[in-house]
Formats: sequence, structure tokens, C-alpha cells
Amino acid sequence: MDYKKLADLLFPDVKYTKEDLEKKYPPRNLKPGAIVTRFAPSPTGFLHIGSVFTCLVANNIAKKSDGVFILRIEDTDQTRKVENGVKNIIQGLNRYDIKFDEGVDEEGNDYGDYGTYTQSQRKDIYMAMAKYLVSEGKAYPCFCDDETAERDKAIQEANKELTGYYGSYAHCRDLTLEEVEANLKQGKKFAIRLKCNSSADHKIVMEDAIRGTLKLSDNFNDVVILKRDFLPPYNFAHACDDHFMRVNLVLRGDEYIPSIAEHLQIFDALGFERIKYAHIAPIQKMEGASKRKISKRKDPEANVTFYLEEGYPVESVKEYLYTVANSNFEDWRKNNPDLTCDNFVVTADKMSKSGALFDLPKLNDVSKNIISTFDAQKVYDLCLAWAELYDKSFAKILKDNKDYAIKVFSIERGTAKPRKDIAKWNETKSAFGYFFKELFAPKSLEDYAYNLEKFDKETIKKIVDKYVGVYDNEPDNQTWFAKIKTLGTEFGFADDMKAYKANPEAYKGHYGDVASMLRVAITGKANTPDLYQICTLLGKDEVVSRLKLASELLK
Ligand code: GLU
Repeated sequence: MDYKKLADLLFPDVKYTKEDLEKKYPPRNLKPGAIVTRFAPSPTGFLHIGSVFTCLVANNIAKKSDGVFILRIEDTDQTRKVENGVKNIIQGLNRYDIKFDEGVDEEGNDYGDYGTYTQSQRKDIYMAMAKYLVSEGKAYPCFCDDETAERDKAIQEANKELTGYYGSYAHCRDLTLEEVEANLKQGKKFAIRLKCNSSADHKIVMEDAIRGTLKLSDNFNDVVILKRDFLPPYNFAHACDDHFMRVNLVLRGDEYIPSIAEHLQIFDALGFERIKYAHIAPIQKMEGASKRKISKRKDPEANVTFYLEEGYPVESVKEYLYTVANSNFEDWRKNNPDLTCDNFVVTADKMSKSGALFDLPKLNDVSKNIISTFDAQKVYDLCLAWAELYDKSFAKILKDNKDYAIKVFSIERGTAKPRKDIAKWNETKSAFGYFFKELFAPKSLEDYAYNLEKFDKETIKKIVDKYVGVYDNEPDNQTWFAKIKTLGTEFGFADDMKAYKANPEAYKGHYGDVASMLRVAITGKANTPDLYQICTLLGKDEVVSRLKLASELLK
């Protein structure tokens, strides 16, 4: 068979030869060990938290090794394309400080020397390489239609044979040049298939950067590498793109593991050097007692917009994703409390093989810690930015009371043991709302967190009423607290903890109980930061008016 002639017949006007492409996209001149990797989304616009995770890892590995991180748009399945899909993905990733060295920008324009970076615009490359394989006798045109494929599948299933295009089912593998010519004359459309020289019982062994040694069944099918529209399926695009973009680490989801054998056959047939793979297991969540993938359909936290809407700071999500990525991150963090998490160096072989667990309560803990390290101005700025998008009336209150709000956020912040009361900005209003007149509006006793099982409302009311009469701006915490203690003694509450503990029956309670009642009366809440600081910030008029309101509602 004259394969060269066959190739010219099938692809009369292909732009490049393999040599042209090897020259056009030369090996990169990078320092030894530099990793070139890529993120290759379909432009669906949906950004899964798992993609942010993968990108954080890939970006880290590329940047720390002085390598290159590429954004490639895999849009050969045009049905999945969504308006602004690319833009949404890029903006979503930029929020997490993930920036690409090469790829497409928000408008879809290329930057970098190894483009174009959009698959639908790379048809010339795929056709050139398919032609090359045909001319080498390694690939052939297949004229079979869908009905033939369905009929063969039914026969194979009935006979309990492996399904696919192989052996006697590979109808077009041995077509003569004349048969091909005749088909073309009839205007029949063709796909291109790779000639497979292996069998199902053959095993291959490969090294995965995350999984270690993998032993896999070989591919036995003559797989399609170019579809009838001359666009490639994933397998062939992956080989051509990653080779000509001179990628040296393919970081991708582990759903591709069963196709590795097929991919390696394509690389070998093309005469491309094989590329190292790192197959990442999808991040998991617990459902009952078992783990499962975080699902776009079932779990709101799958979508990155969830974190934005809830108001998780970027630092918190990143910090948590690093803990999920590498088990040694938490030790690193203990030793490097002041560095930003991006200083950590991710290593592929320390990633989970089975899928790291991602859970929101843990993220909340991490985030509380992170927010506790922010200064009050930063809390104000980030909270306001969040509120401007998701809680306009709260944003107005924050803006109208800027200095006051910063003072509120300063309470017990910047100390050795800062308060860890909020994990995300949508908790700020419920945590700090009582500081703002506009937000403190109890209507009945239910709006207060009194412990009515311990003390009846008559007792509380008496104490509140008494405190209204004596409350004043006090010079310091001690003076303020002494007043509360004294007040308590008038109602049978101990002003000395030792004395109380020695003989609790002799008292109604102790000064801590008195302070608790007043805390609830003034803030509505049982747990707050230091009450003296709160009262100082609120000012005498407001404290007194709140005590009066509390008294009213205690009637
Ligand atoms: N477009 C593929 C996907 O989104 C890319 C896989 C890869 O990284 O090779 O699954």
C-alpha cells in the first residue's frame, strides 16, 4: 500500500508537516527540573472547587520550579460551550491568585509562543498529525457509520466479546487504496483510526507522579483520533497539544487513568516523547459514613461562587485547599506562621491517592483562624466588599459608621489570643450586629438569650433596673466591674468567687451571673467580647436606653 498516496488523497491541503510543527514549537529553554503544566477546561463557565484545587496545585508546582503554567481551552465539543465561559473561569481562578503564563485571556485572545491555546482553532495541527500517521501506515480512514458500530456492539455483547473496533470488527483497517478512492468518490465521510498492535491481555506498567506504579490493561481498539468533522476526540488533542506546547507534566483528573494505555499508544505512534502524568483523585466529602465525590449537581459547595456568596476570604479557602493538597502543610504552617500559604511547596507524591476529604466545618475552623489574624481595617474592607454584593443594607450601615465599625472589629483583635468568632462575612451581621443601633431591635423576651431556667425574669429585671440608675461611663474595666459586683451583693449574689464556691447555698449566684444578665440585656447575646469594651463603644446613652428597653420587655 502506498501510504503517502493514501495520506494525500485524504488530506490534500494540509498546511504543515510534522517537521514544520516540531520547528514551530521547539523544546523550551528552561532550567532543569522546571515543570510545564496546564489547566485545560471546557468553556462551560462552571468552575468547580476541584478545579481551583487542581489549579492551585498545578500553579504552585509550575511557579516553584520556574516552569510554565498554561491555560488551554478544550472546546472541541461545541455543545458544551457557554457565553462568557472562558471569562468566568479565568476570573474565578484569578480570585485565588491563579495566573497563567500562557494561554487565552478573558476575551479569548492568545498570549504565549505555543498557541493558539484554543483547541477549535488548532484543526490544522490535528489534521497535519493525522496525515502524518496515515502516511506512516499507522492510521487509516474509517467509513463505518453509526449503525455499523451499533450492530457490532450488539453482536459483541450477545457473544460476550469485548466491545470495540478491533480484529474482524475493524472493517476499514485493510481497505485498499482503490476502495478508499471509491468511497471518497461517493462522498462518504470518514474518521481516522489509529492501528492498534496490542491486545486486551497485554498489560502495561507506568509511573504516575501521584499514584506511583500503575499496572493497566493495554488498549486493543483501533481508536478514533480524528472525527468525521476533522476535530479530534480528547485522546489525540491531548497528545498533539501537550507535545507541541512542550508540557512535561500532565496534571489531570483520575478519570483518565483507564485511557492511559490508549494515550501512550498515540504518543508512541506519533513519535512523541512520553510525558509524565499526575492523576489527581477528585476531592471528596462525607455522606453518612462513606466518602463520595463533591458533585456539581448535589453540592452547592462544588461551585466556586458558593465561597464568594458565603463570604469566605480567599486566604481561607486557599489555606484550606493547601491542607487538603499535602498532609505536611499543617506542620509547615506551624513552623511558618507568618508566611502566606503560597510560600508552601506542593509535592505531587504527597497528594492523596484516593481523594482528599474536603469538609465545610474544617474550612470554617481554618477560616476563623485566618480571619482572627486580620487587622480591623482588613476585616472592615473585606466585609464591606462582600456586603456591597450580597447585603446592601448592611453595607450602608458599615459605610455610614466606618470609624465605629473599625473600632467594633478591633475588640479583642491583635492580641495574643484573638477572638475567633467568624468564619465568613455572612456571619458578621449576626456576630456583631448588636453593636449597631440600626440592627439591634429586640421585640420580645424571645429576642434575648437570658438563662431563664437559672434566674427568673423578676430577678433579672430588678438587677437591670438597678443598673440603669447607677450606670455611668467608667474610667476602666476594674471600676466598671467593681460596680457590678457591688450591685450583685444587694440582691444576694456573691462578689467573691472563693466565698461563693465554699458556700454556694448562701447565695443566689455570683457576680459572673450578674454580668451575664447585663450582657444579655445590653447585647441580646449570651456570648460576646468583653462587655466593658462594648459598653464603652456603645456610649452611656445607648447603654441606658438598651437597659430600659430590656426592663420593659422583662415585665
Ligand atoms: N478538558 C479536559 C477536562 O476538562 C482536560 C483534561 C486534561 O487536563 O487533560 O476534563
